[in-house]
Amino acid sequence: MKDTFTHRGMRNKLVKILRKKGITNPDVLQAISTIPRHLFMDSGFVDHAYVDKAFPIGAEQTISQPYTVARQTELLNVKKGDKILEIGTGSGYQTAVLLEMKAIVYSIERQNELFKKTKLFLPKLGYRPKKLIFGDGYIGLESEAPFDGIIVTAGAPYVPNPLLAQLKVGGKLVIPVGDAVQIMNVFTRTSATSFEKEKFGEFRFVPLLEDKN
Ligand code: SAH
Repeated sequence: MKDTFTHRGMRNKLVKILRKKGITNPDVLQAISTIPRHLFMDSGFVDHAYVDKAFPIGAEQTISQPYTVARQTELLNVKKGDKILEIGTGSGYQTAVLLEMKAIVYSIERQNELFKKTKLFLPKLGYRPKKLIFGDGYIGLESEAPFDGIIVTAGAPYVPNPLLAQLKVGGKLVIPVGDAVQIMNVFTRTSATSFEKEKFGEFRFVPLLEDKN
């Protein structure tokens, strides 16, 4: 597990690319310039770790494209100490970005293989989520609700109601919604009973699977 001067140089280039693509939040860019993304990927893909692309992480899943991670995190408006729920732990890269931003992170993954691998891996890099859960993201995490933010890192065919219900007033749900292509939706809870909805362009994610799949 090595992070070299060369890797750091590549990360700085990636940050420049993300800035050009419109990412402005300095904490998000700082997190991306700090986290050794190559260590989150299968060894065969290490050379591709710092291009702005998604890559396979095993179990038919992908580590999201850096731009997507950056954009979703920016839209979530994470502040230090915020309680955040992530759906789709995967490689743990997005989890690490949230932890770099000093959030308190809960994350749910439905693939046992990935769940176990990432649970062992993150602490090796010094990343300590509050809780990693092996379970179904469609139901959220009622026992720890409400959250300042919920981020879904897989394409949802619809917006699961429990995720809206588990937001604090003022909290945000960032969720890509759609089948082949997803539209990034941001819901802000404006009161106990009302939400404001905004849309932020097209993205492509692996599907948020329901238990029957
Ligand atoms: N945040 C991850 C992205 C991984 S891809 C990263 O940075 O690497 C999306 C992940 O969502 C996959 O690991 C997939 O197994 C998981 N997933 C799919 N459906 C899910 C569900 N219903 N509940 C929880 N996780 C789910």
